Order: sequence, then C-alpha cells, then structure tokens
Amino acid sequence: MHPIDVLPCPLCELRLRRRCRLCGGSGRVTRALREIYSAHRLAKALAPEWRGADDRQRPGVTIFSLAAYYRRRRFLRGKVVSARGRPDHEEAFGVVELVDGDGRPLTALRGLAWGYGGEGPSGLAAILADALPGLFPTMEDARRFVMALPQDEPWAITATGPGSPPGP
Ligand SMILES: [Zn+2]
Repeated sequence: MHPIDVLPCPLCELRLRRRCRLCGGSGRVTRALREIYSAHRLAKALAPEWRGADDRQRPGVTIFSLAAYYRRRRFLRGKVVSARGRPDHEEAFGVVELVDGDGRPLTALRGLAWGYGGEGPSGLAAILADALPGLFPTMEDARRFVMALPQDEPWAITATGPGSPPGP
C-alpha cells in the first residue's frame, strides 16, 4: 500500500471485527478498495436479488462492474497480470478483461470506460489499482493512465512478462 493512498477500512468502521475480511485486521484499505467495496454495498442495496459476479445483466452501470469485481476479488487478486479493453459499439461502454499469465481472460466487465473523466473511468482506475498494484501504486496513477487512453481504441497493459507493452 502506498502511504498516501491508505484510508480507514469501511468494514471496520461498520462493526468491529477481530479479523476483518476486507482489511485483514489492519484497519486500513487503499482508496481503490474503498471505492470498490462501497460500490459492492450500493449494488447490494439496489439489487439484493443480484448475487452473481456477472455484470452482463446491467451493462454500462459502473457500480455493478465494481461489485462483480469485488465478489470475485479473492480469486482474481494475484492471478491478474494484465488488463485490456476494447470499445463495444453495441453498448455505451466498452469491455474490459482482466487476464492471467497465460493470456486467458479471468473476467470481463461491461460498465467501465476510459479516455475522459467520469464514473466509468474512475471505476476502471479503481480496478486497475487494486488488481495491478505493482503497476499502479496509487489510484491517481491509475486514473492518469485511464484518462490518457484513446476513447475509441482498444488498449492493453501488462505487469510483467516478455514483450509487455509499456502502455501510454
Ligand atoms: Zn477492516
């Protein structure tokens, strides 16, 4: 965790737990994780019947993409080595995939965006900072990357490995 990016754990604020599943008991989370967790809570409040980790039923709604990521976060963290996005001309937003070391997509999210400032790009920045902390030590680093991406172009960024593109 980058020191300037650390915030109090929102789950610890709600109720004291000896071993909090969000922060592991440290009482602190990154800004990115805090945003992801609050989207998960909001999605739960808005759609209690939606328990899945698939945002396809609600494409283009950023909080459901963040919630879908949160619900698979334990599985995804540590496996994700790269991320890629492509515009989808049938939907308002593009498709973002988190990809493992063998190039296989682990998840696809449809409520994120890039190339401007707003909720969709902010959501993408939170996910990149959380999934690829080596590349994006702070959420601001991720936000700068996301805003600089061309809006109507595909993009990809890789943490390690041969032939990894440096990215914009
Ligand atoms: Zn906590």
